Amino acid sequence: MKRKTVKKITQLASFAIILGLSCGIITSSGKSASVSASSVSDLEDMLAQLEERNQQIDNELAGLDSEIAENEKLQDLAWEKLQNTKDTIDYYNYLISYQNDAIAEKQSEIDTLSQNISDKEAEISAKQTDIDELKAENEENLKRFGEIVHAMYVTDNVDIFSVLSESSDIYDLLVRTKLFVNISQQNTRFMDELKQAISDTEQKIKDLENDVAQLDSDRNTLMAEQDELEYEKQDLENKQSEEQALSNQYSNEYNQYSSAISNYEDRQQALENEKKINKEEAEAYEAEIQRMIQEAQQNSQQEYEAGEWMWPVGRNFHYITTYFGYDPWRGGSHSGIDIGDGGINGTDIYASKAGTVIKAKNDYIPGYSYGKYIVIDHGDGYSTLYGHCSALYVYEGQQVNQGDVIGAVGSTGWSTGPHLHFEVRINGIAQDPFGYVTLP
Ligand SMILES: [Zn+2]
Repeated sequence: MKRKTVKKITQLASFAIILGLSCGIITSSGKSASVSASSVSDLEDMLAQLEERNQQIDNELAGLDSEIAENEKLQDLAWEKLQNTKDTIDYYNYLISYQNDAIAEKQSEIDTLSQNISDKEAEISAKQTDIDELKAENEENLKRFGEIVHAMYVTDNVDIFSVLSESSDIYDLLVRTKLFVNISQQNTRFMDELKQAISDTEQKIKDLENDVAQLDSDRNTLMAEQDELEYEKQDLENKQSEEQALSNQYSNEYNQYSSAISNYEDRQQALENEKKINKEEAEAYEAEIQRMIQEAQQNSQQEYEAGEWMWPVGRNFHYITTYFGYDPWRGGSHSGIDIGDGGINGTDIYASKAGTVIKAKNDYIPGYSYGKYIVIDHGDGYSTLYGHCSALYVYEGQQVNQGDVIGAVGSTGWSTGPHLHFEVRINGIAQDPFGYVTLP
């Protein structure tokens, strides 16, 4: 549709088009100079380039969409794994905390036993002191008893046995013996009591020492259990560390995917921006093309309003490769004129006069005849023919005005290079076109 619009434009090489487009496509004076001589087809090329670039952008955007989708999938997976490791770490935390409680409880039991042992040892120590005191008392007692006996009998320079054997009289003996016996009996009883007390205390110490041994053994058992708990805790902490390492790994993966997605999204944004700018440029080109079309139509109306027959191609194309009439190269007559100027290929062909299209032949045999061609009936027996076209823009039966773009110059049919073969006929008989058109 657009192409057709573009093709309906008068050849505009004669117009110096200053492309005052706002998109900054003309950046240097050199480029500006070359672009200023641009034709609609140059603009059309630029439009096509922009469209091609936007097509590439669309392809890359589609690729980025799938990259992002893929990375998001991987990111979700990493997130899921990360959450799992976090749950596991929490669970280990719970187990370790539980283990710490158990260890503390053991410690409290051990402390209680240690306190018991310490108490018992203090008791043993106290009892030991008691025994020492009792023994000292016993010795003191024996010593005192000896002194008493000594005082009683040794003051008279008689020892106890002498006292007993050398009593001067029975009464004296009785008195002395009775007293001695009393003292002796009292002392013996006292000594027996002391011995009993020592023996009892020693027994108590033995009992306490047994208790201490038992407590110590219990404490060792508890400490072994505590060691076991510590070992288990260490095991849990190792496992938790491993899980933490995994968690860090998944966290890194997650961040990598995030950053990749972010990069892709930045690229998408950049491409979208470029696409937007390209679209704006394209719109500016299209607007410029429209402006040129209008300008060209106005010019052509002004130029040919009064003319009888119009030059059938752009006025800057006026090199005639073959004239009407006898042609030695052909070895026969040439039924029209061939206009084959440089750069003519693809340019517009104009209806030389108003009329009805009676032939618009698109199908042709390469190398033969007129190729794609058009015949317009102008009435009163007059008709014109336009041969070797690259494209036809009209259909049979169509009414055309003078100057309407009807096709594009080409090299179809029997042709060795791009040119327009133009004929003027009266009642089907070819005339010299220069009898009707004027060389520009
Ligand atoms: Zn010809």
